[in-house]
Amino acid sequence: MLIKFFSYYKPHKRLFIIDFSSAIFVALLELAFPLAVQWFIDKLLPSGDWGKIVTISILLLTIYIFSTFLQYIVSYLGHKLGINIETDMRQQLFNHVQRQSFRFFDNTKTGHIMSRITNDLFDIGELAHHGPEDLFIAIMTLVGAFILMYSINPELALIAIVMVPLLIILVTFCNIKMNAAWTNMYGKIADVNARVEDSVSGVRVVQSFTNEDFEIGRFKKDNGNFRIAKLVAYKVMAWTHSSMYMMTRLMTLVVLVVGAWFTITDKITPGELVGFILFVNLLIKPVDKISALLELYPKGMAGFRRFQELIDVDPDIEDLPDAVEVEHLNGDIAFDNVHFMYDAHNEVLSGINLKIKSGETVAFVGPSGAGKTTICSLIPRFYDVTEGAITIDGMDIRNITTKSLRQQIGIVQQDVFLFTGTIRENIAYGKGSATDEEIFEAARKAHLESMIDGLPLGYETQIGERGLKLSGGQKQRLAIARMFLKNPPILILDEATSALDTETERIIQQSLAELAENRTTLIIAHRLATIRDADRILVVTEEGITEDGKYDDLVNKGGQFARLHNIQFKEVRS
Ligand code: ADP
Ligand code: MG
Repeated sequence: MLIKFFSYYKPHKRLFIIDFSSAIFVALLELAFPLAVQWFIDKLLPSGDWGKIVTISILLLTIYIFSTFLQYIVSYLGHKLGINIETDMRQQLFNHVQRQSFRFFDNTKTGHIMSRITNDLFDIGELAHHGPEDLFIAIMTLVGAFILMYSINPELALIAIVMVPLLIILVTFCNIKMNAAWTNMYGKIADVNARVEDSVSGVRVVQSFTNEDFEIGRFKKDNGNFRIAKLVAYKVMAWTHSSMYMMTRLMTLVVLVVGAWFTITDKITPGELVGFILFVNLLIKPVDKISALLELYPKGMAGFRRFQELIDVDPDIEDLPDAVEVEHLNGDIAFDNVHFMYDAHNEVLSGINLKIKSGETVAFVGPSGAGKTTICSLIPRFYDVTEGAITIDGMDIRNITTKSLRQQIGIVQQDVFLFTGTIRENIAYGKGSATDEEIFEAARKAHLESMIDGLPLGYETQIGERGLKLSGGQKQRLAIARMFLKNPPILILDEATSALDTETERIIQQSLAELAENRTTLIIAHRLATIRDADRILVVTEEGITEDGKYDDLVNKGGQFARLHNIQFKEVRS
């Protein structure tokens, strides 16, 4: 795990080296400072040489300025290193999630993925930055300070050494308390976030039930809880700071008293005493850092483990090494004894055999849940067949690269997913390289033009979050325009007009008919009126494909389709 973690430093080697060596330098300068003061008091002061005192003071000032500069580098570049690594991991995770199959998303909560990509990585950046550096510097400072203190006076050094573990215990205790308080606070802010998201995205429901006051009350409660949690965290923090303050003063005082006695009995010089006290103060920072690491390490590593868990999930649909890239497919589709199950218990398709000729329009009808959508989602390989094979133009689709396969297939569904952005951007989603002319052409073919021309901002009109500002029919037209732009040889219309009223459906139907021209088209439909002109109709039931034929032939045959037909025909009449 650690080796994997450190592999993320590789691209930032230079940054790491600069940061690390600056940090070592700063630590060395800090260690040298008490010695300089000691020398200043014991040697320089008694000599009374003003010229020398001024020179040394200027030298010290120069070193201070240099050290400040190094501190800046450590602070800035160190955080830069951490954030670089964090960003790399986040990008890698996002790329990885984009490659996952439908099955993965069926079984993984969106919120879960979101928190892995955002929150879980926050601590990693901090750990990547502080981990190796702080540990090394802290140990170096502690050991260095002890050696130097010991060389000044072993007995006094021993007194300090006894107090360090006490300091470590105190600091660790405070850190644990503080961490719990902060974790609690993060939980509460997450509640506030969730509440805002819920109320804002559901604001139309809230207002239609006039439940604003209810929502305000709920928010007030969460916001209040957050306030309390944060106050507790600050209280713990204040406690930590003041007890640390007391502890260090105590240490200084003990050393001062014992040291004073040593000075009076001539065991050490006044300069050595001052140097010693400065060393004692130097011990606090590394102790604090080590105990912070004791907290940060498990947090960061937990995040990294969660990250690694997701990275290790291989997409279950991937290109074979010798998969071919297709330029163009004619659209001869064949299902050969296709079996499929979403999960181990339930076979949704058992032995589907089916041939669709290039350019044909085939309609699927049948009860909800029979597997019509499933049949269609196997063609672009959103899922792989459990048994049997699907071929297009005689090629097993598993031997075609998924990218080139999916570029040949267009799908229009009942609920159109639009992205926040302009009308132009949403149409252009069908083809990234589309020119303005192509976009206008697609809009014209989808009969969107008059609507767009009526808008003050035209193609640049923002459609709102997920196309909120558009009607159902307009959204569907946008989806159709997108499809004209993509221009795929195979087209799947999965209840594309089912959510629309009959009148709108009738109008959209024209656009869809135009879209279906010269393509292999699979239509899933509920209202039989919309598939009257299909070349063939397939009736899909739990038993598989039970009827296959032309509309009128199936009606005359008097089977399942005829029954469906009679029901809908009666509905229309009554
Ligand atoms: P239709 O489109 O004919 O209404 P579907 O193909 O959507 O039917 O569904 C066929 C069966 O597969 C149903 O029993 C449904 O519950 C199940 N199913 C559909 N999608 C999934 C999925 N993503 N995971 C598990 N089961 C699913
Ligand atoms: Mg369906």
